[in-house]
Amino acid sequence: MSQRTLVLLKPDAVSRGLIGEIVGRVERKAGWRITALELRTLDRATLETHYAEHVGRPFYEPLLEFMASGPSVAMVVEGERVIEGLRALAGPTDPIAAAPGSIRGDFGTVVRENLIHASDSEESAERELKIFFPELPR
Ligand code: GDP
Ligand code: MG
Repeated sequence: MSQRTLVLLKPDAVSRGLIGEIVGRVERKAGWRITALELRTLDRATLETHYAEHVGRPFYEPLLEFMASGPSVAMVVEGERVIEGLRALAGPTDPIAAAPGSIRGDFGTVVRENLIHASDSEESAERELKIFFPELPR
């Protein structure tokens, strides 16, 4: 079941010099391919669309501020069960609860600054890919 997913390396990952480390982990998974990759500072409108499900939550405003605070890496990854696989590689939202070996478990301590976003379902992936890479063929 080949899929594609939207991955963001958040501003903390970029400012801490972890792009290579994280991209390397994705590249080393057998058969997965990075098919688009771009460094960009995310604007408010993009972030509001992307995080629409969290409007009104106490962490929403600080999350958007953090996500706009510096460049992120946006990428498309394709391969077998890549949606589930990237969520596993990332680890759970809270980096302290995330197992060592996962990206969040190895590098994070703060829930907001948890290094990486990866789409959580096929529906989310299609929705998010349209936001970040509207030019991709569907
Ligand atoms: P994800 O799918 O694992 O990224 O988590 P969610 O979709 O639930 O939340 C989106 C992002 O909001 C997370 O990755 C965190 O950066 C942030 N976040 C989520 N829950 C909390 C929280 O309880 N506190 C804070 N400070 N940030 C949160
Ligand atoms: Mg989420």
